[in-house]
Amino acid sequence: MNLSYWEYKTWLSNIDYTIVGSGIVGLNCALRLRERFPKAKILILEKGFLPQGASTKNAGFACFGSISEVLADLNQHSELEVIELVKKRWDGIKMLRANLGDQAIDFQIHGGHELFLDSGGELYDTCKNRLPEINKLLQPVYGKDAFHLGPNTFGFSKVKEKYITNIFEGQLDTGKMMNSLLQLVQKTSITVFNSIIVEDYSETKSGVVVKTDKFEFKTKNLLIATNGFASSLINEKVSPARAQVLITKPIQNLSIEGTFHFDEGYYYFRNIGSRILFGGGRNLDFKGEETNEPGCSEKIQKHLELLLKEVVLPKTPHNIDHRWSGIMGMGKQKNPILKKISDHVYCGVRLGGMGIAIGSAIGKDLADLVE
Ligand SMILES: Cc1cc2nc3c(=O)[nH]c(=O)nc-3n(C[C@H](O)[C@H](O)[C@H](O)COP(=O)(O)OP(=O)(O)OC[C@H]3O[C@@H](n4cnc5c(N)ncnc54)[C@H](O)[C@@H]3O)c2cc1C
Repeated sequence: MNLSYWEYKTWLSNIDYTIVGSGIVGLNCALRLRERFPKAKILILEKGFLPQGASTKNAGFACFGSISEVLADLNQHSELEVIELVKKRWDGIKMLRANLGDQAIDFQIHGGHELFLDSGGELYDTCKNRLPEINKLLQPVYGKDAFHLGPNTFGFSKVKEKYITNIFEGQLDTGKMMNSLLQLVQKTSITVFNSIIVEDYSETKSGVVVKTDKFEFKTKNLLIATNGFASSLINEKVSPARAQVLITKPIQNLSIEGTFHFDEGYYYFRNIGSRILFGGGRNLDFKGEETNEPGCSEKIQKHLELLLKEVVLPKTPHNIDHRWSGIMGMGKQKNPILKKISDHVYCGVRLGGMGIAIGSAIGKDLADLVE
């Protein structure tokens, strides 16, 4: 690339911290670094003209874990670990709201509801029976009973007569959240370069040489926040997982309000004003969706349309307005990978499906790894 002396000197020399990825983790990491090091030169490199992973593509659920998810987690983890997992999400949402303000992100609490399909076997009864036990277990986090049985007031079809609501769960405007974060970053003199792909890096005694698709430069520290794309740069076990969604056109007199999921979280929907956003279906083709290529598959989109018509809006005429996908970072374990990789290289990746709740904290913790 034909970079001038001035360009190198002004933007690509003496860089203290370079962050790869401008998702929720990368931006929060940058803000925390600025707080800790007011005079440092901080650079963010993002491969898309907008973030290309999950942070600007997601559904905007501010969730802590549905009752069936908590039960599934209890099969894998100790009670203490599950409490800790839920507490991290709870604290994370608090942090996000405090950092950006409810108005700026259009934060609303209408509850998070878990529906149970008629065809869903024993899960409904198990969740219902264990509801008091789970409420008691999570008292230290929520301070009162979080889960409640409620009637099917929104007229969903092919589901059990009641659903289980976490009264504390909320929803936000994903675009506003990311725009607010970006504006904060830009206000604090952090440079963001878009459309730059970090291809490789090599460590020296004093720092890291970073190779991008357009130029090479040196940085004292490299912080990797590339989530589902992580394995192309570092040797960590992160699998990409594409998630597809669709959104309807505005629907007259839509009464549905809140966030909802069913089929063990494989399907989720919410209202956005008078529209319904509906997503999921990765379980129809795990192998095909283990990709970091954007795109929508006919098989999954057709099934989303079918469930939208049969379960969510059985009596309401509606039209699809738009479809898209995003890339998540998953692994066998739920916890993100947050660690120092070598003397000058750090990573905070594998956020799974909970990045809104934990992304702010992981970004901050990533910045705090730096000595
Ligand atoms: C459709 C969908 C719905 C979701 N719904 C919810 C929800 O309702 N609630 C919730 O909590 N979570 C949800 N999630 C998950 C959540 O969005 C993620 O956990 C979170 O955004 C992860 O943030 P991140 O910063 O770690 O990663 P990302 O947002 O993926 O950011 C990583 C960034 O790194 C960039 N990058 C990658 N490689 C390179 C490279 N080599 N060079 C330069 N840049 C690079 C990418 O372009 C990307 O912008 C959803 C995800 C999807 C896809």
